[in-house]
Amino acid sequence: MTKFIFITGGVLSALGKGIAASSIGRLMESHGYKITLQKYDPYLNVDPGTMNPFQHGEVYVTDDGAETDLDLGHYERFTSTKTSQSHNWTAGKIYESIIKKERQGEFLGKTVQVIPHVTDEIKKAFSTVAEENDIVIAEIGGTVGDIEGQPFLESIRQMRLELGKENTLFIHLTLVPFIKTSGELKTKPTQHSVRELRAIGIQPDIILCRTERPLNQDIKAKISLFTNVPLEAVITAQDVKNIYEIPLLYAREELDTIILKYLNLDKKKRKLSSWKDLITRMNNPEDEVEISLVGKYAGLQDSYISLKEALIHGGIKHRLKVNISWIEAEDLEKGKLEDILGQHDGILVPGGFGVRGIEGKIKAVTYAREKKIPYFGICLGMQCATIEFARKIANLSRANSTEFDPKTPHKLFFKWRELKGIDKMGGTMRLGSYSCRLQKNSFAYKSYRKEAISERHRHRYEFNPEYEKTLTQAGLCFSGKNPDYDLVEIIEIKNHPWFLGCQFHPEFKSKPLEPHPLFKSFIGASYAYRLKRNKNKP
Ligand code: GLN
Repeated sequence: MTKFIFITGGVLSALGKGIAASSIGRLMESHGYKITLQKYDPYLNVDPGTMNPFQHGEVYVTDDGAETDLDLGHYERFTSTKTSQSHNWTAGKIYESIIKKERQGEFLGKTVQVIPHVTDEIKKAFSTVAEENDIVIAEIGGTVGDIEGQPFLESIRQMRLELGKENTLFIHLTLVPFIKTSGELKTKPTQHSVRELRAIGIQPDIILCRTERPLNQDIKAKISLFTNVPLEAVITAQDVKNIYEIPLLYAREELDTIILKYLNLDKKKRKLSSWKDLITRMNNPEDEVEISLVGKYAGLQDSYISLKEALIHGGIKHRLKVNISWIEAEDLEKGKLEDILGQHDGILVPGGFGVRGIEGKIKAVTYAREKKIPYFGICLGMQCATIEFARKIANLSRANSTEFDPKTPHKLFFKWRELKGIDKMGGTMRLGSYSCRLQKNSFAYKSYRKEAISERHRHRYEFNPEYEKTLTQAGLCFSGKNPDYDLVEIIEIKNHPWFLGCQFHPEFKSKPLEPHPLFKSFIGASYAYRLKRNKNKP
């Protein structure tokens, strides 16, 4: 029978529930169990696809094209799970389905209510991924005490009643702040948040205490007494510099042993050696490399979280620490490029939407192309690179995407639905995995070392095939194409140490133990550039 671990959060948000859940997933996998993770978000948006990145951070895209919470990225990076539409549920998505059923008369005239209809729908969502897994870890977003979180908490309470103690586990993540003036760790917020949980019928089995300093036995005993959680199950979750260390930290606290005991699962020999090697490599880099990331929300690193991680993964392979400079594209429009980009070893323009900062990004491309600095353009960054090449090398000086200039005489990128005449296919974006065939003898092929690949997309605009011939003649290489629709997926410039743009988002598939081939080779090329630059320094 599938076991369920429910993770709730108390005191305040941003305690790292997603990473805690992922780390628990990793530990369970280390004992040989097949696991998956789900995220439940209590907000009323159906998905985060249309939410402002300032509010929500990155939209993580799954193979089947779901636009999801960024925690799903952590789930895939820490564990071997593959997420999908069934791994992220919002209150909006749950209500949408109930209201649709109500309109179709499925409730046979009954009054539709939060209990049992909404809670039943939530419980059904837990079961969508249960069959093929030994353990489902469900993270409940928000903080205990929030009004909109209540139906979710009520559902997990019912799950315990229905499935019993051996098959369900409640883990509560809280904060134990250190108060500098008195030099003490304070347990009161934890006591209050557990009291809130118990008031709605949930007694946590395990408490994970986020803290700056280790909890001594006295503090643990106090938390145990006030929260009614056994002493062994009060776990120190001390802050770490490197998030990938957290599974090891939990293992040292024997969190996995306790979880397996409470769920009555066999404790096998924990296999964490490759993860331990990873941490050793990450914490002992041999050198470093400087990458500039030219974006629109450069101040908002949460909206590029997968990208940041993928760059770090690329560095692990080469034993390099990757330092990222977050550069606001608009600053490049006025500033001197040499001053802003001159000290970096590689330039990356990531995905994005809207016209603001575009000309700054295009200037960054020119700089990278002319100075022969490794360039990696992702989605919007690929579009900028193609536009730059068309303008400067192919003499199409007003070339643009219709997203930024609807009246451009050279529509280099335009809406993909217009391209195929398939306007009524639902959403307007190309979402999820599409296959791509690589041309031999390209940077892409050298990185992937195979011809057929598949990558995830999230964009509206596509390269206009009418310009392929002109740009090829001018020297642009179309090294990757989608075979089903003949869509351009990758462009490259030869005669350059490393210059590649891809229409997809490779960062979604990079993992610390399996760094993405493109990030690996981009970092490698950037480091080679750095060594050369240092050698040539006077
Ligand atoms: N705005 C561009 C498009 O919609 C690029 C999107 C992206 O970078 N994800 O095609």
